[in-house]
Amino acid sequence: MLPTDNHVHSRWSWDTAASSSMELACARAVELGLPGLAFTEHVDFTGWHTDDAGSHRGHTVGSRPHVQPFDVDGYSADLARCREVFPQLRILSGIEAGEPHLFSNGVAEVLRSGDFDRVLGSLHAIEHNGELQFVDAALFSQLDPNDLIRRYFQELLTLVESSSVFGVLAHCDYARRYWPASAGDYREDEFEEAYRAVFRALASSGRALEINTRSPLASVELVHWWWQAGGDAVSFGSDAHDPYSVGNRFAVAVDIVEAAGFRPGRDRFDFWRR
Ligand SMILES: [Zn+2]
Ligand SMILES: [Zn+2]
Repeated sequence: MLPTDNHVHSRWSWDTAASSSMELACARAVELGLPGLAFTEHVDFTGWHTDDAGSHRGHTVGSRPHVQPFDVDGYSADLARCREVFPQLRILSGIEAGEPHLFSNGVAEVLRSGDFDRVLGSLHAIEHNGELQFVDAALFSQLDPNDLIRRYFQELLTLVESSSVFGVLAHCDYARRYWPASAGDYREDEFEEAYRAVFRALASSGRALEINTRSPLASVELVHWWWQAGGDAVSFGSDAHDPYSVGNRFAVAVDIVEAAGFRPGRDRFDFWRR
């Protein structure tokens, strides 16, 4: 049986098409036989709020021309409607908080303004040249790929250690999505200690690690590092930005997580557990 998809975007996310409705995502989840899904919309900001932890670092928020504020009221009304239309699904509310350790006050304000079941913590950006910059192919072209990945994990460790607003760490190696072909294969074992440090910090705070099926799939060995770190919970997330990607590659992801030592949780809506 497939698990709940705990990481889905709909048109309420600033980077997701207006045609990606919640209804279509729910219909896809029903079609696949998923027990539920969580709409975890992007919460990102184009500048610091007063006293945001990031504002004390002495760098600015780089250009983010497409980022829009999250419309909590519109989102919440749409979600309530979907719960009525799809009683067979458990539909969770949520956000994907970008750099929650830096935008600490901005994220707290959003969390106060609604009712959210799932809060994902994500690192999409690191500091470069005095600015917070999204990690993408352009940033990889300016930095040594290995250095960039090491800086990414360093910042991710700080994120896990200094923010407690999220319950699931999303796509722990997000930066690898942009690893350049010219640098050869991305090798998880090159960064083993960095992964393990993040996993130890996350496990000691009792939170869940996400297996993100939009990213290159984690190896069994990588998920087993999470198990060895004492990690208790694994969350499955497609990171779908269109309805047809809901639950994408979940059958393979389940096999990987099971081979690494985890089992279905208390009920079919739960995280997988050690
Ligand atoms: Zn993300
Ligand atoms: Zn996402």
